[in-house]
Amino acid sequence: KKLRVALMGLGSYANRVADAMKDSKYAKVSGVISGTPSKIADWKKRFDIPDKNCYNYGNFDAIKDNDEIDAVYIITPNALHHGQCLRVAAAGKHVICEKPMAINAKEGQEMVEACDKAGVELLIGYRMRFEANTLEIVKMREAGEFGEIKFFQGLSGFKIGDPNQWRLDPKLAGGGAMMDIGIYAINGTRYMVGEEPIWVTAQEVKTDPIKFKEGVDETITFQLGFESGVVASCLSTYSMNYLDKFFLNGTKGFAELKPATGYGPIRSETHKGRLDLPHITHQTKQMDEMAKIILEGKKPTIPVDGKDGLKDLKIIDAIYQSVKQGSKVMLDL
Ligand code: NAD
Repeated sequence: KKLRVALMGLGSYANRVADAMKDSKYAKVSGVISGTPSKIADWKKRFDIPDKNCYNYGNFDAIKDNDEIDAVYIITPNALHHGQCLRVAAAGKHVICEKPMAINAKEGQEMVEACDKAGVELLIGYRMRFEANTLEIVKMREAGEFGEIKFFQGLSGFKIGDPNQWRLDPKLAGGGAMMDIGIYAINGTRYMVGEEPIWVTAQEVKTDPIKFKEGVDETITFQLGFESGVVASCLSTYSMNYLDKFFLNGTKGFAELKPATGYGPIRSETHKGRLDLPHITHQTKQMDEMAKIILEGKKPTIPVDGKDGLKDLKIIDAIYQSVKQGSKVMLDL
């Protein structure tokens, strides 16, 4: 049996996910939710979707009565995730939601509670958590191969183009580079170090206040501190290219992922040599793993659930607060 998924928001990433799902053993595109009739017509043909599995943003609550859909994958602009997730949960369908799961921790918490209450899964699209090189390095760290971890560096950014896109509209994006790409360095810090941070400091630089309006961060450097003494130093930006690198350093060795989070292939090196494990399309692997979590009703062994996504939002809230107040903010994850 395959997990029957309806995709909500048929933009560029939804297309990538849907194409990757063609190779999934456990998940398939079974429905769509879109505000654009021409896109629905196109997807119906591409994925052989019946009329009764097609919805728009006004009527998708009726998915409640559709026994051909198990889960809804929300792939819309960030600020819409919260309200859409609450509606999907109320319809009794499992939720897979793109990162960032919401635009602040309060919203994220409400999503976790709504899905718990409805008895449905809430999983966040952290595709790197299933990537082979990443998993191997996490395994090596757990086996003590890097010794005591001392330092992590996470660099995440790209130069953003079109000034009119939703990513640069604070109402739809809920922030700037941090929400979109900096979140990879945050999530990466947590899985590479293998510990939750206890404090954050952050500094913002804005060189183009016209393109990056109030509420849209262009570049933020931030540091995360850990109980063990590990320090992470990270960069999130919308104004530089060639920034996709994770570096972990311990008393016995190091690991580097470069690129660390691109669509692949991921390149990896440790003090023992290169790993460069074979590339599998991230979204195919993610959907296989998420379908198994939902279909088998088992607790995810890799944390990609709403409670884990919420931790990233608490860190983002704290980063923005630290920028504002100019000092260290303590975290309680
Ligand atoms: P996109 O602009 O290509 O697609 C967004 C879709 O949402 C469009 O089809 C648009 O029509 C629809 N939409 C619905 N209501 C809208 C509204 N009120 N305003 C604007 N658009 C509306 O964006 P995308 O790149 O596909 O990103 C969508 C989500 O996926 C974001 O949350 C993003 O962070 C996430 N994403 C994740 C990854 C990943 O690797 N995990 C990669 C890209 C994007």
